[in-house]
Amino acid sequence: MSLVVQKYGGSSLSCPERIKAIAERIVGVKKKGKKVVAVVSAMGDTTDKLLNLAHQVNPYPPKRELDLLLSSGEMVSCALLTMALHGLGESAIAFSGPQVRIITDEAHTRARIQKIETRRILEELKKGKIVVVAGYQGATLKNDITTLGRGGSDITAVALAAALKADLCEICSDVEGVYTADPQIVPQARKLPRISYEEMLELASGGAQVIHLRAVEIAKKYGVRLHTRSSFNQKEGTIID
Ligand code: ASP
Ligand code: MG
Repeated sequence: MSLVVQKYGGSSLSCPERIKAIAERIVGVKKKGKKVVAVVSAMGDTTDKLLNLAHQVNPYPPKRELDLLLSSGEMVSCALLTMALHGLGESAIAFSGPQVRIITDEAHTRARIQKIETRRILEELKKGKIVVVAGYQGATLKNDITTLGRGGSDITAVALAAALKADLCEICSDVEGVYTADPQIVPQARKLPRISYEEMLELASGGAQVIHLRAVEIAKKYGVRLHTRSSFNQKEGTIID
């Protein structure tokens, strides 16, 4: 049975209706006979709001506590999406990053993943469950919660796909794929069906917002096949491999 890791961005989960729509989309994938691990970002602009709150109480918030605060956004969306899956009659289980032991270094607010334990996720998948993991976070060996830097849920998804030896990692967002130019600015921009890791790295370092640069680096290193596509329709996006 093939295993797909799907990452859903914040705008795909911005309200209860969208969360329920994503739950239905995930059930559709499972019904096609696939095992699914979903990695989620925080709802809408939650992370910005949390950052803003922190700066209102202290212009220089301590980074350890900032990470505790920021990680809560993804915990909310992860729990809610799992509840929505249960509402559809599916068995699903939610995990925060620390709960699945995504171990990072101690560089708060820009931590790097060092190790991921896959045992628990594999056990739950084996039981037929959909596994939902909070993106953007992990914990140090001392069990302090860390975050991976803005946009870090992509990194969680690709690192998990590598650790689980998934067949595919889908980056689902409000962007339909990789374009030859920004379609908002250049109307003739074309969606590319497929590009290489190297080409994507060049585009991402030039500021293309489809996927986090470091996530592409990890995908290249471990040979994780990526598919960036829209969360809102079933159109094929761009394969990166
Ligand atoms: N919620 C975090 C951010 O907005 C992480 C992510 O979206 O990937 O940066
Ligand atoms: Mg976000």
